[in-house]
Amino acid sequence: MVFGVAGVPTNYKGKFKNLFDWLRERDLNGYEIQCVYGFKISDVNKQIILEEKSKGFCFSMHAPYYINLGSKNEPVVARSKENMKQGIELAKSVGVNRITFHPGGGHDNTEEGRKLAIKQLIDAVNEFTHQIDMGDVRLYPEIGGKTANLGSLDEIIEICKHCEYCYPCIDIAHLHAREIGSITSKEILKEKLQKIKDAIPQKFKYIHFHAYTINYGDKGELNHLRHGENMPDGRVGMPNLDDFTSVLKEMGIEPWVISEAQDTQEIGAEYMLQSYKK
Ligand SMILES: [Zn+2]
Repeated sequence: MVFGVAGVPTNYKGKFKNLFDWLRERDLNGYEIQCVYGFKISDVNKQIILEEKSKGFCFSMHAPYYINLGSKNEPVVARSKENMKQGIELAKSVGVNRITFHPGGGHDNTEEGRKLAIKQLIDAVNEFTHQIDMGDVRLYPEIGGKTANLGSLDEIIEICKHCEYCYPCIDIAHLHAREIGSITSKEILKEKLQKIKDAIPQKFKYIHFHAYTINYGDKGELNHLRHGENMPDGRVGMPNLDDFTSVLKEMGIEPWVISEAQDTQEIGAEYMLQSYKK
């Protein structure tokens, strides 16, 4: 099982090389490398990652925000494909085999426009993943937080069904936000995960999670909440993380869970780990 953080936690003030001991003190063993502004890792940090990996730390990687394989703009898609290929090489160089990416968007936000965008994304992914040696790298299209983003639950399933190298990144907060507060009970969350399991059973065991609570409006995601923080209107922050960890247990899912709680990633991750162990 993996419980970890996305990027260097705001509360950590030391050097990168000492971060992993700081996380270990909290029993955390996961780190999502935030390549959100470009697929780049310094040579020094590469060495640190390789060393920590050899000591059992688990790494995933988040692709840059500007990657947009679902864009209407052809040069953007072409560039995104090249970027993804570089990212895969980078991941291989540090022994990372999970890359999460945002499906993007840009076509009309209609049923037809979204279908077209997903078809285009599937074709793009199948093209570049079959041009290169993927090694053991898996790509994780992530649930989008805003209603206008590509990456509904059905769209993520669709991508994973049709792309050999794609596996689901289920950001439960994004899912809750884009569905305007849908995850109101454990049973509902379980149903959603069961839907994925039924559709892509062979890929389900490699599922990747982002989990934290979120503030949303009528267009979906507004901002990530701090761990334990309420919505601005006073409602309790959702989805419920105890429900989440108990669904993991009930469904026998091997957890790989990354906390993206605002400024409190490590607190959220530790909370979920303890809740899972209970
Ligand atoms: Zn993301």
